[in-house]
Order: sequence, then C-alpha cells, then structure tokens
Amino acid sequence: MATKRDYYEVLGVAKNASEADIKKAYRRMAMKHHPDKNAGDKAAEEKFKEANEANEILSNAQKRAAYDQFGHAGVNQQAGGGGQGGFHQGNFTDAFGDIFGDLFGGGRGRGGQARQEQQNRGSDLRYEIEISMEEAFHGVTKNIKFSSFAPCEPCHGLGAQKGSSKIKCTTCNGHGAVRIQQGFFAIQQACPNCHGSGQVIKDPCTSCKGQGRMHKAREVSVKIPAGVDTGSRIRLSGEGDAGESGGGQGDLYIDIHVKANTLFQREGNDIHCEAPIAFATACLGGEIEIPTIDGRVKLKIPPETQSGKTFRLRGKGFKALHGGGIGDLLCQVNIETPINLTEEQKNRLKEFSTLIEAGGKKHSPKSSSWFDSVKRFFSRT
Ligand SMILES: [Zn+2]
Ligand SMILES: [Zn+2]
Repeated sequence: MATKRDYYEVLGVAKNASEADIKKAYRRMAMKHHPDKNAGDKAAEEKFKEANEANEILSNAQKRAAYDQFGHAGVNQQAGGGGQGGFHQGNFTDAFGDIFGDLFGGGRGRGGQARQEQQNRGSDLRYEIEISMEEAFHGVTKNIKFSSFAPCEPCHGLGAQKGSSKIKCTTCNGHGAVRIQQGFFAIQQACPNCHGSGQVIKDPCTSCKGQGRMHKAREVSVKIPAGVDTGSRIRLSGEGDAGESGGGQGDLYIDIHVKANTLFQREGNDIHCEAPIAFATACLGGEIEIPTIDGRVKLKIPPETQSGKTFRLRGKGFKALHGGGIGDLLCQVNIETPINLTEEQKNRLKEFSTLIEAGGKKHSPKSSSWFDSVKRFFSRT
C-alpha cells in the first residue's frame, strides 16, 4: 500500500480546524472530484476516495482523536483486507448521500435519539465480485473473505469491562449537551466528553479499549441469483461494520461484474452467438450442433440458408432477474469458405461454378437483387 497523505493536508485544513470547517472543506473536495463530474479521470477518483477517507476519520471525534495521537496506524481500517482473485474491498461512502442527508436532515424530523444511533451505526462496506457468465446464468453462491469491525466479544459490544457499567457523564450531567457562553449568546453543543450520549464507561474493556468493536476476519456466503448482470448490486443488511459502543451494523453491498465470454454476448436477457456452417449444409439443409450456456443443442438448418442468417432459439437466454420470462438465444450462422483445396477439389468446384452460371439468375437470389440496386443507383445519376 502506498504511504498515505496526512488527512488534514488532504482536506486542506489546519490541525485545529473546527468540525464545521472540516465539513465545509470535505464538501468542497467531494464536489470538485466527484466521479460523476470527472468521468474516467483516475487522479480525480483517487482524490475523491482520499477525501472520503479523511472525512470519515476527521468528522468523527473519537476517530479524529485516535488519528491525532497515533496517526494512520490508529485508524487504519483497511488492515488485512487482502481479498482473493482480484476482488477488493473498500469502505463505501457516498459523498452525495452524506451531503444531501445533511442538507435535508433537519427537514426529515429525525429526533436526537435517532441521530445518535445513526452516528454510532457502523459503516457500509462495498465488495466487488467477478463471476463468469455461466455463474450469472445459473446463479451461484460465493464465499467472500474480508475483515471488518465486529462487536467485541468479551464486552458484547458495550465497551465496558465485565461487571462495570456505564455511568452518567459528569461533564454534561447526563444531558449529552453542554451550553457555552459566546458573547451575548449561549449555544448548545454536543458534550465533548461523552460525544452526546450522556454516559461514559467507567472501566473500558481491555480487549477493545472501550470501542465496543474489533477488527475481525470474516467469511460471508453470498447467494447470487440467476440473471444478474454487470452492475447488479446485492445488499446484505447488517453485514457491514459494527458501530462503536454497540451501535448497529452497517450493510454490505456486493457489486457484481460478469466476465466477458468468448462464445456468447449478452444483450438484456438475450444471448447472441455465432456458428460457422459448411457451404453444402447451407445449400442442402441439415443439422448443426451449437452451444448454449446450458449445453449443446441441435439447430436445424433449412435448405438455401444465406450466410449471416440469425436463428432464434426461444427460452435459451437469461432468466429475467425480477421475474417476467426468459430471454432467447440468437445464433447467427456464417458460411465458411473452404481452404486448402486439392487440385481435384478445385476442378470440381470450377465445374460446379460453370453449371451454376449456366442456370442464370435463379441460383443467385442476393446478387441478382444486388445488381438491380446497383443498376438503379447509376441510372439515377
Ligand atoms: Zn457528557
Ligand atoms: Zn470490548
């Protein structure tokens, strides 16, 4: 992993910046580098991620304190992600979700209690997974490994040593807020000692240092339904990070990417493929074997089939993800020109060609209409 820039430097704020300054700086950076505005710009994407990460730490009083004291080591959340087979894991923070949530938050009438829970809720996580077209076709169950915050076991996520409990915060006398006199005005602020909860832990749990959660390697089984495509997303509720001090767990989002296949192309729920056919089969008709994702099937080729004709096999496509039928397989046949001909084969072909020419137009449905078009085109000029 590359060395990380200082979070304050990332947001361009001073070490003693206020919460409001940090929020403002973060909004500015997020707006400027948002991927929607900078499509394909890798540098902007990196800056956007960097700003998200810096904001996540600096906007949280506890995390900020840990960062101030121990630097990146104190808040390193990506530890042990590892991943497998090109998958990667990362924190999933939607800048605009945050921005709009904040803008409209007041209007939604959220009470203080809900807000407090929201604050303590663990982060959502996003996991990208790559599957084959066969797996997308049939559906598949995948085990994914990653590490995330889980509730601390010895203290059951509460952050307090066994036998010890939470006590009333003395700074705010359990109110969760303190009043500060500023000039003529008295303003109310979240208590800096208990961060608004009104309670503090008397003896912090030694395993989690009072956080109530710990990094843990995890393995989650994800059921991917038949019919998914690149861009499909599965939400596993409550499988994200555990929050601090028993705050609820965030969600885990699985983003699906379906690998390209050499034989099949997908278009909606239909599947396209191509198959070569012999010249004689195209003339006389016959049967060829073509692949479907489900296995081989026989395709009847009628006599006088033209190169490029597409045959539709109903119900051999993808199952629609949200019900509503099954797609088709569309197989385009192309006549293969024989190669490596022997002298005898060439002579027979010349004889055959002479016979065809003697038959005139009736053997060449396409070229006769094509020549007609050419003639019409030039007679206009
Ligand atoms: Zn307090
Ligand atoms: Zn603990």
